[in-house]
Amino acid sequence: MKPAVVAEIEPLRAAIADARRKGQTIGLVPTMGALHDGHRSLIEAARRQNDYVVVSIFVNPTQFGPNEDLKRYPRPLERDLGLCGEAGVDLVFHPQPETIYPPDYRTFVEVTGLQDVLCGASRPGHFRGVATVVLKLFHLVQPDRAYFGQKDAQQVRIVQRMVMDLNVPVEVCVCPTVRETDGLALSSRNAYLEAGERRLATVLYRTLIEAKRSIEGGERIAAAIRERMSERIGAVAGAVVDYVAVVDAETLCEATAIEPGRPILLALAVKFGGTRLIDNLLIP
Ligand code: AMP
Repeated sequence: MKPAVVAEIEPLRAAIADARRKGQTIGLVPTMGALHDGHRSLIEAARRQNDYVVVSIFVNPTQFGPNEDLKRYPRPLERDLGLCGEAGVDLVFHPQPETIYPPDYRTFVEVTGLQDVLCGASRPGHFRGVATVVLKLFHLVQPDRAYFGQKDAQQVRIVQRMVMDLNVPVEVCVCPTVRETDGLALSSRNAYLEAGERRLATVLYRTLIEAKRSIEGGERIAAAIRERMSERIGAVAGAVVDYVAVVDAETLCEATAIEPGRPILLALAVKFGGTRLIDNLLIP
């Protein structure tokens, strides 16, 4: 069954109020569309844990830099609605940019520090756009739970911090990264990769796994891990490193040593031609 689709705020609020009147719990899955099995896993988790599931499909302009892929970002709406229908979504919120950002829009959310490192360093303003749209969606949908993928680890940390700092009454649920059989993390941007680049792109996951194994094997010096990761990717012609990071999973600050009880995030951003891919592994 196709889910109901609303584009405007008033019918969205009406549908939410109706679910609330029935005493239903609400799960929200924020997305930019071009849905794949990674998104599906979030929707399935929301379906299991809530009575009423809302998926937002919105290519959020404020999280794209001036030279990024806002215009060419894939928007296969009919296909997305099909996937939402199959997965049992109750309502799809698919607003136009002017509905979310009317003329003279002025208010933005910044999660200082966390927003400026890793992806934030090469995508200034990106996480300001993410935090702003996520908080707006939280206000519009007022979900009990909201679902995010570990694939975007920094986004998860920023949303968790924002929810704590601003006392937002939403439970942030984090779902594991869904991968292709060769390890490549599913991403809407994988569609940009040419066949050769797609083959090379497996180096991200392989590099992360090797780093994880070295930690399991007793390596405790973060700089040594970082260096081996950089070398590994540097050896692939056509792969251009944006960052290779071994950071504290909570603060996202560079780690110096691997210590028991301090979770570490291994994170990578690598460009293949015009396509920038990210991946990460959390070492508990
Ligand atoms: P996006 O449409 O790229 O903004 O992603 C929407 C949500 O899906 C975010 O919370 C992502 O972290 C999550 N997501 C994207 N790719 C994956 C994946 N391969 N596995 C799990 N979650 C994912």
